[in-house]
Formats: sequence, C-alpha cells, structure tokens
Amino acid sequence: MSLPSEEVFMSEQRLLLGNEAIGYGILVGGCTTITSYPGTPASEILASVATLKRKQNLDIHVEWSINEKVAFETALANSYAGRRSAVAMKQVGLNVAMDPLMSAAYTGVKGGMVVVVADDPGPHSSQTEQDTRFFAQAAKVPVFDPVSPRDCFSLIQKALDVSEAFEIPVIFRPTTRVSHARQDVWVPEEICVEQKPASFEKEPTRWAATPKFRFLLHRALNEKLEKIAEKEELQPELLDPNQNEEGKVCILGSGVVLTYAWEILNELELLPEVPIYRTLMPYPLKRSFLDSLLQKYERILVLEETYPVIEYQLRNLDRVFGRLSGNVPYEGELLPETVEDIIRNFLQLPSRERVQADEAPPRRPTLCPGCPHRASFYALRKVFKKGIYPGDIGCYTLGLNLNAVDTVLCMGAAISQAAGFYHAFKGNITKEKPDIVATIGDSTFFHSGIPALINAVAEDARFVLLVLDNSTTAMTGNQPTPETGKRASGELSGKKISILKLVEACGVEFVREADPYDVKDFIEILKEAKSFVQEPGGGIAVIIAKHPCLMDKEYQSQFKRLKVRITDRCKSCHYCIDNFECPALVDVPGEDRVTIDYSTCSGCGVCVSVCPRKAIVIDG
Ligand code: SF4
Ligand code: SF4
Repeated sequence: MSLPSEEVFMSEQRLLLGNEAIGYGILVGGCTTITSYPGTPASEILASVATLKRKQNLDIHVEWSINEKVAFETALANSYAGRRSAVAMKQVGLNVAMDPLMSAAYTGVKGGMVVVVADDPGPHSSQTEQDTRFFAQAAKVPVFDPVSPRDCFSLIQKALDVSEAFEIPVIFRPTTRVSHARQDVWVPEEICVEQKPASFEKEPTRWAATPKFRFLLHRALNEKLEKIAEKEELQPELLDPNQNEEGKVCILGSGVVLTYAWEILNELELLPEVPIYRTLMPYPLKRSFLDSLLQKYERILVLEETYPVIEYQLRNLDRVFGRLSGNVPYEGELLPETVEDIIRNFLQLPSRERVQADEAPPRRPTLCPGCPHRASFYALRKVFKKGIYPGDIGCYTLGLNLNAVDTVLCMGAAISQAAGFYHAFKGNITKEKPDIVATIGDSTFFHSGIPALINAVAEDARFVLLVLDNSTTAMTGNQPTPETGKRASGELSGKKISILKLVEACGVEFVREADPYDVKDFIEILKEAKSFVQEPGGGIAVIIAKHPCLMDKEYQSQFKRLKVRITDRCKSCHYCIDNFECPALVDVPGEDRVTIDYSTCSGCGVCVSVCPRKAIVIDG
C-alpha cells in the first residue's frame, strides 16, 4: 500500500476523486473518443475528461451522448478504426448498452476500448444494486475492479492495454465508494494523448458477420478469454505485499471491501495470519490459481460486491465462506462494520459491541425551492384529481411526494407504461376509465422516450404527457441536453434539437409549450389536453413544461428574484405546505401564519398562485 513508483515520471500530485482519476487514466491511456450518459455514481468521469480537454486543448472527441447505447456504439466505432476509446455510465446504463456490448465481445476491437461502469451497492441513487461483473461474465469480457482512486488511474491503463492486445472490449467497474473517494494521485501536469491515425480495414466476416461467422467469432472469444485468464500480470496478488501466505485461512475478493478487510485485520493484529488476495480482474479467473488456493487454505472468505461472481468461479461450497454459504448478505452495501462482522464470524472471534449513535431525524427528499417541476406537478394534481401517473427517472421522481408519480421503472418507461395502462383500461366497461398522465424529463425524453412515444401514437394510445423541460440533465450535475446546442466541453455546437418538433414528428397532434410558473395558464392548457384525450377524434396530448432549472448557473444570472411575503390573510390552513411542499414555506410553532424561510426561498413567486386565500403577495 505504498505510493506507486510512477511518482518518478509524474510531475504533479493531485487530490482526485476516483472518477477524476479514471478521467486522467483514460487520457494517459491514449483514448481519443470518450463518451458517456450521465448517471450517479459515474457522472464525474466524462466531466473531468471534458475539463482536461478544455484546459489542455486536447485533440480528442468528448460527448455526452443521448443514451448509453449510442455512447457505446460511438466509442466502439473509434476502436474499430484502430484508436483507443472509453465509454462511461452507471450500472443501470449498461442495461441500455448491453445489446451492443454482447455483440462487440464477438467482433472485438482494434484500438483498446474500456467500458467504465460504476456500480452502486446500497443502492444510493439507483433502481437496482446489480453487479456489473456479472454482466461482464454474461457478455464474456474481462472486468477490472479498482480498490481506490490511485488504483483507478493505473489499472484503467492496464485495462486498455489488455483490450488492445486481445482485441476485446473490457469493463472497468468502480463502485460508489471508489468513484467518490478522494486520494492523492500522481498524474502528468501536461497530458499527451497519442494520436494514432484512424484506419478501418474492411472485414465483413468480423464487423458485419452473418450467423455462421458469429459462431467462429464466439469460438475465438472463448479462446481469448482463456489466454487472458492465464496472463501473468493479471493474476490475483496479495493486497499488501508485506503479508505472507502461511496461514490456514485467507480472504479472496475484489474492490474496495478488501481495503476495509485490511484495516480490520490490521486493527485485530491478524494481518500476518490472514492473507488477503486481491483479484485485479475478477473475471475471467485462472482455474489453476483458484485450485491452488483451495489446496493451500482450509477455509476461504470471499468478499466482493454485490453478487457472488468470484464465489461461483471457485465452485466449492464446503470451505468457502461467502454469499452461497449464507455468511455474507445477499443485498446491500458491504460497509466497514458489516465486513468486520463477517470477518469476526469467519475467524470465530467474539462479535464487537457497538454503541448506537443518535441518528438525525430522517428528512424526506424534496424538490428544490423554486423548482419548476413542483409547479407542473401542482397543476397536474389540480386538473387530474384521480388518475394513474406513470413517472420516470430524474429529480422529478420526487413528484412522488406530491402524489403525482405512481410508477418509476427505468428510463423512458413513463411513456410506454402510460400506453400500457391505456390499453389495460380501454376495454374496461364496468368501471370508469382513469385519466393517465405521464411525466418525463427532457434528458430522459431524448434518452429513450422518443421510441416509446412513436409506439404509443402508432398504437392509438391516449394519455397526457408532460415533458418536464428544464433545459438540462439536472439530477446528475446539469449536463447539457441536445436541446441546448452545447457540447460536453462547453462550446456551442450551434445545432439545437427542438423537443416540440420531435414530438410533432412522432405524430402527436396536440402539442403545447408552456411555462409552469404561470400556474393559471398552465392549468388551462392541462384542461384542454384532458378534453383532447377524451374527445372522439383525440389521441395523445403532450405539454412541454418549459422553465430552466434554477441550479443552472447561466439561468441564475438572469433569474429575477421576487420578494414574497405572507400577509395576515393567512389562516394557517396548511394548504400550501401540504399541496405544494415548497421547503421555504414553513410552519413555525406558535406563529399564527405560515412563514417564509428566506434563507432557502428562491423568489420564484409561484406560491402566490397556490394560496386559495391570496395570503401570499409579492412586494415591490
Ligand atoms: S399561505 Fe395560504 S395556503 Fe398557506 S397556510 Fe396561509 S392561508 Fe393557507
Ligand atoms: S417564492 Fe414561494 S414557492 Fe418560490 S421558493 Fe419562495 S416560498 Fe417557495
């Protein structure tokens, strides 16, 4: 665990996030095309690459693609052309990019290609806690599992070398605790990205293979995997080279949990007795290495997040402690205290007494003060009092709190589910048909809403769709959408893609654009939409609720703050708090009226339209 010797060649030590270290590693590793779709915990990877491109004037292509599939395929073509590439996404993003990944494993690459997929055990900000190493096995591609930010920087370069040497895309899988940890990393002050000339050699039996050749490619893929598993420098190693391999028991695993294990054993003064083997590449593992461990040690504890990937490869249930033996939880993050409990159990040590710290009272997550989505949801609930509200992935999922979101499945599902609910209730002759009102953000609409909308129109579905257009990808750090005409590194592309025109092109006949801050007008448009959906010749009605996100720095400079005040007309009825939920509207015990917390109030003024007693006014 000492500093790497790269220090000799590097000129600058920087305190980097794991994701920033990945960004540096990608560039030092020679990638000339880097693509991504934002998603926690992966969003800072492309952002850091884009910043380095801008600051160091690098001749590379960096893009926020509209979804992970597009990002993957764009990067892959660069690797087909012999240049190195990287694509970054969160773990559920790989579900979207799985189609090209499965095929790319067969076709392989010419220039190295690394697929960075950040996993979210916990999960902290995802729909699932799926393990990307499992997906690597499904696709039959190698996967690397870094333990720290410093490791991210060096290991990703190794991953690129393996990819290029074996002409296979490789996965690089950090977890949230690695992506968002900070550590000093030695990096070059000036990055020089090797510019190999692009050259595409036509080889139809590979790049456009028919099923007969796919069979041969599959065989070649299996052979590659065997050779990669044998590679000496990719073999599991002791996490701490000062440990010896003498004990009767050992720990085998991958990722950040091994660093917790090291600290726990160090504290217990058991490092000499319990060697920790770290697999740089948890798949594919060399069979003879696993057999040698099974021969050498009486018992092996496997620590890995989140599925039993290494354990399945060990194929031994008798002497292996892990998930399959019931000693490691099947779900949830392996936090240091969980790992300590597992290790104590494994080593038959008494469990540790823990003093329960007082926990802060839980606070429900809520939309920001002044968020235009709150105004949209408020209007939606005013017009559609009863209904089914399919929602989608983004900060507007918090419409849940306003009873305006009933389902959240995956990116783009709001629209397909709205259509599905329509078809489910269409033939329902005994009961009243519910209003169906779907909500989707602008970035999510570009990501995967468009095919769903085309399908819904083609299948004659009827529902109201609100595209919550705040001109940014707000939840992941305000990345640009195709509507803004901005590129990842900040320059203007000049090409702005209009959501309104896209919706029209999907065949939707009722399309309106409106500002949800104008609550009264917005409600009227929703009423029109409701009538259109119900009338004989009606169909899908789309309203583009357009107002910029208040977190957007550019918009902040133009935003005109209003000074609102609660007057003595307020009867403390709580209507505004219960139905609008702006965190700046607070009920102070002992006060005879609701109070505005000016430290959080954004000055949007929307609450003025919400109070039925006209008790909120704008000053000046
Ligand atoms: S401001 Fe209006 S809605 Fe809010 S508590 Fe007072 S009277 Fe009720
Ligand atoms: S003006 Fe009203 S709605 Fe807007 S942030 Fe302030 S209290 Fe909330």
